Amino acid sequence: MKTVISRVDANNPNRKDMEMAGQFIASGELVAFPTETVYGLGGDALDSEASKKIYAAKGRPSDNPLIVHIADFSGMEILAESVPEAARKLADAFWPGPLTMIVRKSAKVPYETTGGMDTVAIRMPNHPVALDLIRTSGCFIAAPSANTSGRPSPTQASHVEEDLSGKIAMILDGGPVGIGIESTIIDLTEEIPMVLRPGYITPEMLSEVLGQEVIIDPGIIAADDLTKPKAPGMKYRHYAPKAKLVIVDGVPDAVKEKINALVKEAKAEQKRIAVIATDETKEDYQADIVLSIGKRQDEDSIARHLFRILRECDDLEVDGIYSESFSTPRIGQAIMNRLLKAAGHHVIQV
Ligand code: AMP
Ligand code: MG
Repeated sequence: MKTVISRVDANNPNRKDMEMAGQFIASGELVAFPTETVYGLGGDALDSEASKKIYAAKGRPSDNPLIVHIADFSGMEILAESVPEAARKLADAFWPGPLTMIVRKSAKVPYETTGGMDTVAIRMPNHPVALDLIRTSGCFIAAPSANTSGRPSPTQASHVEEDLSGKIAMILDGGPVGIGIESTIIDLTEEIPMVLRPGYITPEMLSEVLGQEVIIDPGIIAADDLTKPKAPGMKYRHYAPKAKLVIVDGVPDAVKEKINALVKEAKAEQKRIAVIATDETKEDYQADIVLSIGKRQDEDSIARHLFRILRECDDLEVDGIYSESFSTPRIGQAIMNRLLKAAGHHVIQV
């Protein structure tokens, strides 16, 4: 299949491109599009054949459910068996935005879309192209991240092209995304709302709006294989670069000293090493390649560049990667959740 790639102005997308994309979705084909979090791979959420195509294009295990994207709150009333009060409160506060809510599904949603589950994940994205595509297609759009399963999520159209060119009908290129990590997922089917995936919207923000306690799925914090995460997708190996990635954690000076010592050892064995640092520290390393992920003073910049940096590590063909740790104040948990997975939880404490 030849993939049509169209560059669209994120704030004022061209009608002709949007109509072509909407037609593809309405006729059961797949279109990758930008959202504020990462690029999504979209198909008609109520068409089980379109959902099957999404799993096939990504190589995604079929038990890993898709998030359904809507452009108006009324979509939730159609997709959910009933709308919990908490969902209305959270939608008022955070939609459109980087928050996915899990509720019991209505009979309209096919099991192919929910990976066989009786619940459905719903999000209203905050991106003009995404909202336009949902409205123009006249469909609810099932869309996981537009990457090959296991690779870092795409934060620019070229990442989607790398993974999916030739496998999908169209890519809408709206430029690099703003947030860079996937949405926060909150499960509203439990008595106490539970965060199944950390993201830009923190448990504290959710709890404040709901006026009740919000817990974090113990399965996403545990590094062992015994505590299973509740979101099927969180159990899979994910984001890992080809070379072994190790995180070095501790006070800044000790981290620099340790990473430089490790780089020196590796050099003695003729190994090429990349270091993932920040704007503040990038001059302090003696490695072949030093990549700055962003400014430590601006944690949003770290989130925005994380997946691009992990992809770059693959292009550089290095033998090993050492990274600083980024447990920043607000979204450090979301950033480290991805980085720890990419590193297979290999951490050196100094
Ligand atoms: P992605 O679309 O690639 O960002 O991944 C979607 C994530 O949402 C995966 O981790 C899924 O397992 C999770 N998810 C989607 N629907 C549900 C659901 N009904 N229950 C629990 N987790 C879900
Ligand atoms: Mg994904």
